[in-house]
Amino acid sequence: MINDKNSQKIVDIIQNFARKHSLFVLAYGTGCGAIEIPPTMTSRYDAERFGIRGAATPRQADVLLITGYLTTKTVKRVIRVYEQMQDPKYVIGFGSCTINGGMYWDSYNTIKVLDRYLPVDIYINGCMPRPEAVIEGFIKLQKKIMEGRAEGAKHYKENLEWYRANQKKVLGPTTPHIQEYNW
Ligand code: SF4
Repeated sequence: MINDKNSQKIVDIIQNFARKHSLFVLAYGTGCGAIEIPPTMTSRYDAERFGIRGAATPRQADVLLITGYLTTKTVKRVIRVYEQMQDPKYVIGFGSCTINGGMYWDSYNTIKVLDRYLPVDIYINGCMPRPEAVIEGFIKLQKKIMEGRAEGAKHYKENLEWYRANQKKVLGPTTPHIQEYNW
């Protein structure tokens, strides 16, 4: 017998299956790794066969792909872009710079750990990651979506104060670029 709980489970499975095969990606080309995106998306590696394709605006995007280091100037824009995206949404940190600062680990004006400012669902290691690694990262994201474990956006909502405090540490307490987040 199918009860409410079971039917919700079935709906979740169908939704997650559809979501994982339809990932519209907004690539925020902040670092040198962005150069690996064209070969990933075009005929040689053809990411679209996995349901991965580009999106023109944040409102149409499911995935924010941050391709490398973020300066304290660009991080403002990235936060703004992320908050304009609709749920469900996911973040991929691309390259060592997003994980631990990479070769800019002691730079005075880059952030070192992206996860302190935005909720990263998947990291792709490397400097710079090759298209095979990029596709593998997306496949990991798809697996997480299918299993209902890609919950970065939920984590962001639940811990917004913590994220805001970290963001303000690098942007300054009165930054006008962070608006109130209207959920
Ligand atoms: S990880 Fe390497 S390729 Fe990517 S932005 Fe940093 S320095 Fe550039």
